[in-house]
Amino acid sequence: MSTNAEIAARASNVLVSNYRQAPIALARGKGSEVWDADGKRYLDLYGGIAVSALGHAHPRLVKAIADQAASILHTTNLVYNEPSIRLAEKLVSFTRPTPDAAPLLSRAFFCNSGTEAMEACVKLARRRAFLAGENRRTRFLAFHNAFHGRSMGALALTGTPKYWEGFGCDVERTTHVAYGDLDAVSIALDSKQGEYCAIVVEPVQGEGGVLPAPAGFLRNLRTLATEHGALLIVDEVQTGIGRTGKWFGYQQTSVEPDAIALAKGLGGGVPIGAMLIREELNHVLTPGSHGSTFGGNPLATAAALAVVETMEEEGLLEHVVAMGQRLSEQLQNVAARHPLLFEGERGLGLLRGLLMRPTVEARTMLVAARAKGVLLSVASERVLRFTPPLNVEARILDEAAQLLDLAAASLDAPISETTLPSR
Ligand code: PLP
Repeated sequence: MSTNAEIAARASNVLVSNYRQAPIALARGKGSEVWDADGKRYLDLYGGIAVSALGHAHPRLVKAIADQAASILHTTNLVYNEPSIRLAEKLVSFTRPTPDAAPLLSRAFFCNSGTEAMEACVKLARRRAFLAGENRRTRFLAFHNAFHGRSMGALALTGTPKYWEGFGCDVERTTHVAYGDLDAVSIALDSKQGEYCAIVVEPVQGEGGVLPAPAGFLRNLRTLATEHGALLIVDEVQTGIGRTGKWFGYQQTSVEPDAIALAKGLGGGVPIGAMLIREELNHVLTPGSHGSTFGGNPLATAAALAVVETMEEEGLLEHVVAMGQRLSEQLQNVAARHPLLFEGERGLGLLRGLLMRPTVEARTMLVAARAKGVLLSVASERVLRFTPPLNVEARILDEAAQLLDLAAASLDAPISETTLPSR
């Protein structure tokens, strides 16, 4: 077995240098604990950035993957495969507004990532207008600091220039306004009547800094979208599949989207994305107009099915609410004990952020936490993001809170030296 240092040295020779990677290689995991190539143990509070819904090596997920691999891995979409149909039936059933109601979103399209799920939404919105003869309706309304993926279409919706600068993508066809600013949305829609094909929004801005939508915001967007003949597309790539304590983040309010994008936690670590749409939009993507070689492949859909069935059987939505509350309280305590470092915490369910003071970079705390054995990610420069497995145990959160306290204490002294006025 190679060491962390050996692996990092080899990586620097062969990998494209587009990632800022920590100098460790994770070698194995169990539940919410992982071990690096040197054998050091970490508490995994980033969960592969909201991906490892069932933690690591969950026996049910391992078995589903192994069984499917031993049966048939890939079929193409030229034929049917049952795991994808069962997964689609499950996912649409989660969109029933009440147990007896019909699903709000009754059709699923499968792909391989969040970017691709958003790309499908972009194409859906544009083509719907095209088929209706509305050729001017090609514009999107999205939000500053939003993150929707890195393909040219999804990238144009992403509301942070650093992601699209230099790539020549068509950002001109997206109007970005401040998240939460309904007046700005109205002004933008009014100023280009008949041009908007969709409003695109995250229920909680994830990459943008773990910022939940203000109360009533999504509902008002729904009203405005309908008034202006635009779709309401909700990007649930980070918030979906139980992350906020509901199957989908939009279900925290009574808003009814036209389409949602899913990925991340859906496969529990196996790459898969999905777009769910309303029945009346099913005429838009006709045979041949859109597709994916791997999308809906039996391996990925069997894994995703195991994830959502396990979540149902283990009551993980309720668990997320309880653990989210516990984590929130712990982070508030950590913030209160280290006021030079932290401003506070925010989030929904198990998507939570610890806000740094403007003078402290979140990355500094990320490195300190890693040294103490807690893995986290950063969302915007100023927010430390917590997206643990949805089945994280209370004992893991409690241990992590103690380690974060120690990590923060290791930064307190140097920070107070630089921020206290000199005498
Ligand atoms: N949309 C949101 C809200 C995301 O958080 C992400 C990834 O972080 C994406 C889309 C893109 O997903 P992927 O990285 O799977 O392509």
